Amino acid sequence: MFNMGVKYIFRLDDVNPSMNWNEFHRYINLFKKYNIKPLIGVIPDNQDKEIKKYEFNDNFWKIIKDLVDSKVVDISQHGYQHQLFPTSIQSPHSIGVFSKKSEFSGLSRQEQYDKILKGKNIMKEYGVESDIWMSPAHTLDNSTIEVLVDLGFKIITDGSGLFPFKSEKMLFVPQQFERPRRMPIGVITFCIHTNNSSDILYQDTEKLLESSSNDCISIRDVKVGKGKLGYYFINKLFQFFLIKIRSIKLLILDIRL
Ligand SMILES: [Zn+2]
Repeated sequence: MFNMGVKYIFRLDDVNPSMNWNEFHRYINLFKKYNIKPLIGVIPDNQDKEIKKYEFNDNFWKIIKDLVDSKVVDISQHGYQHQLFPTSIQSPHSIGVFSKKSEFSGLSRQEQYDKILKGKNIMKEYGVESDIWMSPAHTLDNSTIEVLVDLGFKIITDGSGLFPFKSEKMLFVPQQFERPRRMPIGVITFCIHTNNSSDILYQDTEKLLESSSNDCISIRDVKVGKGKLGYYFINKLFQFFLIKIRSIKLLILDIRL
């Protein structure tokens, strides 16, 4: 049946050995308190100076593996080195239609394959390989999706819409907002950058966990049920408004509902 409820998923981006560890642990402890499993996006070999501003932690992979093994988090591969370059090539599914940077979009299929495989092998070496993909800057193109399918990925945490959808053998779980807020319908993923979090962001996260913990799910709980056509039209409608609203640079979507 077509079910118009709401579910919330949290993801923590840019997890790397030189991240803001205090903020990372602060959020992990918050999710633990409410027994909610967030998705973390781990960069296999981070080379992006913008997000390695803190002291390098030698225990990185052990800490990550412990979190995964103790089922505190789900893990995804967040690109390879997070080195972004300017590009305007995008998959129609990409929510990053407004992002002009990517680690992959526009590269040849072979180049993308090599990079993604290198990242995947690093994660495998440390025992935290994942079939969930999180694209740096939310950007990917059609070749990225083909390569991800070839390499055994099953879920992409991104895509444009209010509800998850299947396409090209992949489950897309759209990511819509950064700041947690209540919504009337949808499967809503909030993307939290713990490196530059703020007290307000933390408080908004806790507020939502407090009021709606029964509606918070793990990304692995996502299922695409019946009523595909209904979801399809809602996603199209959402895309239309998202593009309209963002293109005239209004921040209507950032008003708390
Ligand atoms: Zn990132």
